[in-house]
Amino acid sequence: MLPISVTNKYILKRCRTSMLFILCILLGGIMFTGTFSKLALAYDNISVELNGQSLISEHLPILKDGITLVPLRVIFESLGVEVKWEESTKTITASRWQRNILMAIGQEQAYMQDKDQPQRQIKLNIPPQIINNATYVPLRFVSESFGGKVEWNAQQRKVIIRTQSPPDANPWEYRILAGVTEKTVEAFGGMDAVNEMIVKQIEAVNRGFQNNAFIEIPRFTIRHEDIYQFEGDGRTESLNKFHSKHEYLLIYDAFPEGGGGWYGGEYQAIYHAWPTGVFGTLFESNATDGLVHEFAHAIGNALDLYAISVDAERNLISGTEYKVAQSIMDYPYGETVWDDHTIASINKAGGYPIQDEERYTAEQFPEIIEVLTLDRVGRPTPNVKIRLYPVHWFGNEVVSEPISMAHSGVNGVWKLEKNPFEPFSIGKPWSIGYANFLVEVEYPNGNKHYNWMPVDQVQLHRYRLPDQSYRLTFRDS
Ligand SMILES: [Zn+2]
Repeated sequence: MLPISVTNKYILKRCRTSMLFILCILLGGIMFTGTFSKLALAYDNISVELNGQSLISEHLPILKDGITLVPLRVIFESLGVEVKWEESTKTITASRWQRNILMAIGQEQAYMQDKDQPQRQIKLNIPPQIINNATYVPLRFVSESFGGKVEWNAQQRKVIIRTQSPPDANPWEYRILAGVTEKTVEAFGGMDAVNEMIVKQIEAVNRGFQNNAFIEIPRFTIRHEDIYQFEGDGRTESLNKFHSKHEYLLIYDAFPEGGGGWYGGEYQAIYHAWPTGVFGTLFESNATDGLVHEFAHAIGNALDLYAISVDAERNLISGTEYKVAQSIMDYPYGETVWDDHTIASINKAGGYPIQDEERYTAEQFPEIIEVLTLDRVGRPTPNVKIRLYPVHWFGNEVVSEPISMAHSGVNGVWKLEKNPFEPFSIGKPWSIGYANFLVEVEYPNGNKHYNWMPVDQVQLHRYRLPDQSYRLTFRDS
């Protein structure tokens, strides 16, 4: 996030959204153009590379029905995944960080379970199987389940797996690799001076995370040997630098062409684009606050709370504003306040890098969302007209066309038939369709009342009371 002007927020977020979109296209493209199937005849000739290193085994990868199978031990050990084998049931349990995967020999059905989440069933294209006395598993599935990205290099007949998170991660400790543009190094007095400023700034970031509401205080570590200088554009560097021995890449740029921010997915990088100006230099306190904000995105997939707010003049329905709780995830500069939703998001990750960004936040909704309408003395009132006006991410505006309309039932309740936030909307920020709703109720006596239903508050309800429905209550007056 850049502090130049308010509009910069939108620019940055658009970048983030479009990056996700580009990523989706790329992965989709690989699936279609990777054409594993065309190489079915060359199965004895495939090699597998993980983070630039060849995986060697006495058992070779095998192509079957167009799917690459690899020996289980080799792939899981390389990814830092713990494996348990249950002979009697022929089942494999693979675990890393907060995730367990259960597969069985000859079974196409696999199960994935993240801590505190319901188990998910996954259908494999090809079941795990025993070939030449070794257990083989589908490579793409197991790699991607544990945070790896898989590509196929047709010319070299090579499967390339990249992981951006090191397999030996310690919970709550996050290692940083930092790159600095040449021009920045020059402007700030050379590499030695820059080294020192970066180490000091990361210490300040750590102080920003001092809050007892975290299960454990997050700790970011950087060593002098992990700070390097590079030529060229900071954004390009953020999206292209391998950092398989560090959880996060942090790129310093005091002369950026555009906005910076957090790049998730396979990048796991913060582009700290910070021109010297009214908000100070990239090593000063405002910039440090900005970094704390970006690291909260990194370790908790935290929401940009400013994206949920609504300006009064952009609300033509009720004319009121919506202000989020004070937070480092709203306007971070000079604020070290942590809001409850951000803390819950970070705690949920348990101190490990997030494995499944597309689902991580989108999963945190109550099963049931409902609106209850009461009369002046608190009795349930049926037949109240209810309208949901949506707020798009980063729009800060109420859309004047409701997405949903209904009447409360005999018990005064309207139970929404589906989650209006539309979780798992791929390509939307945090894979969630809407950021907020203005809820309007119109009583049979003509009285109208309004309330907000922001994503963070609905999710907070789920974090605190996972089994209970979310209920927005209105009382006529
Ligand atoms: Zn942000």
